[in-house]
Amino acid sequence: MAKLWTSQEIASATGGAATAPFAVSGVAFDSREVTQGDLFVAMKGETTDGHRFVDKAFAQGAAGAVVSEAVDYPHVLVPDSAAALEALGRASRARMAGKVVGVTGSVGKTGTKEALFQALDRNHPGQVHRSVKSYNNHVGVPLSLSRMPRDAAFGVFEMGMNHAGELAALTRQVRPHVAIVTAIAPAHIEFFGTEAAIAEAKAEIFEGLEPGGTAIIPYDSPHIAILYEKAEKHAAHILTFGFGEEADVRVRESVPASGGGTLVTAVLPHAELCFTVAAPGEHWVSNALAVLAAVEALGGDLAAAGLALAEMPGLPGRGERRIVPVAGGEALLIDESYNANPLSMAVTLKQLGREKAARRIAVLGGMRELGSRSAELHAGLAEPLAAGQVDYAILVGQEMTPLADALGKAFPFAHVPDTAAATDLLQSEMRAGDAILVKGSNGIGLSRLVAALEETA
Ligand code: ATP
Ligand code: MG
Repeated sequence: MAKLWTSQEIASATGGAATAPFAVSGVAFDSREVTQGDLFVAMKGETTDGHRFVDKAFAQGAAGAVVSEAVDYPHVLVPDSAAALEALGRASRARMAGKVVGVTGSVGKTGTKEALFQALDRNHPGQVHRSVKSYNNHVGVPLSLSRMPRDAAFGVFEMGMNHAGELAALTRQVRPHVAIVTAIAPAHIEFFGTEAAIAEAKAEIFEGLEPGGTAIIPYDSPHIAILYEKAEKHAAHILTFGFGEEADVRVRESVPASGGGTLVTAVLPHAELCFTVAAPGEHWVSNALAVLAAVEALGGDLAAAGLALAEMPGLPGRGERRIVPVAGGEALLIDESYNANPLSMAVTLKQLGREKAARRIAVLGGMRELGSRSAELHAGLAEPLAAGQVDYAILVGQEMTPLADALGKAFPFAHVPDTAAATDLLQSEMRAGDAILVKGSNGIGLSRLVAALEETA
């Protein structure tokens, strides 16, 4: 396996002291994720102390550790493991000569990151590094950086935040050549108060842009002015993307493709491109435009990106489409159980309305982290529900009470206390030819409903 770090390099990056020479091929701080040849970084968290898992990490094949308390294995001793991981991330970024992309936004970060990875990997197989999962915070970002092979041609990093100032810190570690803001929506609004404040905080990503860098921003966002103003200060180039006619990367035409995707003709500054976005929904067209804008900024191969978008595999819980057998035929299950906020609820309900189906059923769970605006924003879902072609809704859990109240008798729905009750109800309600959207914040546990339906299937 390729050598990622030597103990000497780790010591010099972190200012620590190596007790024995070793070399590692990967990095992990969660002992459950350690694989053969990894560096285990023992971090002290609020509830756990990674030093307790050092034995386990080495039993699983760790080749060395970064610790703040000496252990009986080859290690680099540092005063603070979290600071050491960040230092390792910075050193990784510093020695890498390729191009780096940072992806933030209220929604669509992982989807866009994965799609951009596929787009670049097509022409540079094995040379594109990316964050895994949604590792996007103050430990996830340095971890992802520290894992980047020194000869990577591209690095694509997901970057998230819950509070103002967090992205400013992360972007100075990532130092992107291209920084994408996918969309602004009231996610995590409990920490911000207004969407404009969220836009300000997301725009911090531009502060870390490399000289000559490109900012990629969503044209259709009501907060484009905030994003643009900040981008102008830090970026040499700005590319807007969206459905608006003035966007630099825009849709000329879009029609439904078979299998739920969209056939898109897009206009770019130097090209026009016809491609299919396999992942369903307008929001995926938007993410695809951001990907193309990034490929354009990197001087990459747009045609290859178009092919990659057509083959994009569905991400678990983010729009995966499954056919489940029911009495007398089949039903379509759209699994959005991983994530929900007002914007993604609205776009996916609109998408459900477009499905060709006997009935369109929305199983909706709560949207978390909306703070004092939670009740108002849940009640606000009445509008996209009523506006769309949705036939019936199953509302799950107490957070949905304001929506149930707002719907009143105007719309057919059932309100059930939990996922188990929703599963029972749906199983008795489902008919052949139905299209069923299942969406809620991950914490609501609607993935259990999806799993139960699959088991019966
Ligand atoms: P997290 O903050 O949890 O890491 P994320 O920003 O990485 O989330 P994704 O996991 O890519 O977001 O997508 C989550 C959901 O957001 C999707 O299932 C979809 O419903 C919705 N979504 C994705 N892209 C967009 C978009 N551009 N506009 C609106 N909604 C979107
Ligand atoms: Mg994510």
